[in-house]
Amino acid sequence: MGKPIKPSADRLIKSGLISRPSAPQKSPRHTDKLIFFPDWCKKCGLCTAVCPTGALKQNGHDNPVLPDQDKCRLCSLCWRICPDFAIVKNPEFEDKENDAQ
Ligand code: SF4
Ligand code: SF4
Repeated sequence: MGKPIKPSADRLIKSGLISRPSAPQKSPRHTDKLIFFPDWCKKCGLCTAVCPTGALKQNGHDNPVLPDQDKCRLCSLCWRICPDFAIVKNPEFEDKENDAQ
């Protein structure tokens, strides 16, 4: 048996399973906890479907939004399941938490 093939973002993009525009992201939407990249979002609804607290909302075929950040537990499910890397954790949030400790 050969070496197992590790999935990588580059490989997935090349395979056509996911897409990511080559143009730089123009307008990320920042919240305290999450950053959304609407240009990369295909509005599939996976992130809102897995969010265990209902913090993520999506109206029809709009981009997901986080209207009530207190509901978000930073469980990571949304950014892990997003096939297009359109959600990331805001790296500054942890810093704020650490500052408060
Ligand atoms: S999972 Fe990703 S692509 Fe799908 S709606 Fe959520 S942010 Fe958009
Ligand atoms: S990190 Fe978890 S709780 Fe927060 S919006 Fe994403 S899925 Fe919901």
